[in-house]
Amino acid sequence: MGWKTLDDMDVDGKTVLIRVDINVPLEDAQVTDDTRIKRIVPTVHEVLERGGKAVLMAHFGRPKGQVVPEMSLAQIVPAVEKCLARAVHFIDGNYAATLGQLEPGSVALLENLRFNPGEEKNDAGFAQRLASLGDLYVNDAFSAAHRAHASTEAIARLLPSCAGRLMQAELSALESALGAPKRPVVAVVGGAKVSTKLELLSNLVEKTDHLVIGGGMANTFLAAQGIDVGKSLAEHDMTDTASEIVQKAKSVSCTIHLPSDVVVARDFKAGAANETVAADACPADAMILDAGPATVARLESVFETCETLIWNGPLGAFEIPPFDAATNAAAAKAAKLTTAGKLISVAGGGDTVAALNVSGAADAFTYISTAGGAFLEWMEGKTLPGVAALES
Ligand code: ADP
Ligand code: MG
Repeated sequence: MGWKTLDDMDVDGKTVLIRVDINVPLEDAQVTDDTRIKRIVPTVHEVLERGGKAVLMAHFGRPKGQVVPEMSLAQIVPAVEKCLARAVHFIDGNYAATLGQLEPGSVALLENLRFNPGEEKNDAGFAQRLASLGDLYVNDAFSAAHRAHASTEAIARLLPSCAGRLMQAELSALESALGAPKRPVVAVVGGAKVSTKLELLSNLVEKTDHLVIGGGMANTFLAAQGIDVGKSLAEHDMTDTASEIVQKAKSVSCTIHLPSDVVVARDFKAGAANETVAADACPADAMILDAGPATVARLESVFETCETLIWNGPLGAFEIPPFDAATNAAAAKAAKLTTAGKLISVAGGGDTVAALNVSGAADAFTYISTAGGAFLEWMEGKTLPGVAALES
């Protein structure tokens, strides 16, 4: 791959600037979920063990270039100290004054980078100021890599740079799913709307052998075939676009799988009375809320023929059982094949990760990306500025 890792860097005695994502949820100044902090530990510990000084750089919330005390990273220090099992020196806006005094083996955290307007502008001067604080730059924040900011893009061009262990894991997982995957590849795309996932669908059609379309967006594809979808969530102004995607798939030999049967209900609520009908038989006063068992059985057999699976978007309204059934069943099948060594499975997206966690299948997946926007942009085939800067 075209980027360096910590294996290529001599860290001993160096001050290592590490861009991390510790944008964790806070309630009453308490961190309610420290998953993101836990994930930076391997890179930070490795830098310290190899004789370096770790200076963590991060953003928190959206202060828009101003000092907003409620968005100070000072609040996160105790949680970072707990995860790293080390003292963390907090450095306010006056970076250089305090940093020089730190011993090798110590950890510092800079104040919220977005308090400075230069951060989000990818300002050369601000990047230079950050770069002057260290000898090496390590980017471990894949989730911020879709933004060209001073701490993710410009700085990488000013110092010897590499990917941190978390970034490295994310990039290799994504590479094995879409970059140079084992074929055949199946993509599962679900969720609410076609309009938010257009670029994703067109890219996946080109790169995969099977494209499973589920969730609300499948209704738009059914409507495009002239099927009456009743009161279902569907974007009737997107039917031409849906037909174009189907045409494109035909021309590149990607097989599109739409639901053949669906679960319909009159109310959008948990436990609503429901029935399973053929995909072209949704009653006029009902809405499609999940894929049916025949559809799931076909998906399972597609999974069996594939080597690689990439998944974004639930197959139904998974928040309200029993309309989580198709998502859960397909997730369980993917998990089983992965555990048996027959499938590489990569999934991402806010609701997708939530659905896979609830289903209990997430742990068995090869990789679950929590990177949100960066994961989606990567699936859309876009170049991520933070990754590109590491490559050059
Ligand atoms: P992600 O966050 O993983 O990218 P999305 O936000 O695109 O996923 O989609 C998730 C949403 O899609 C969920 O809120 C789910 O309820 C909704 N959804 C899925 N299928 C349907 C459906 N048939 N009708 C209405 N909403 C649906
Ligand atoms: Mg979502």
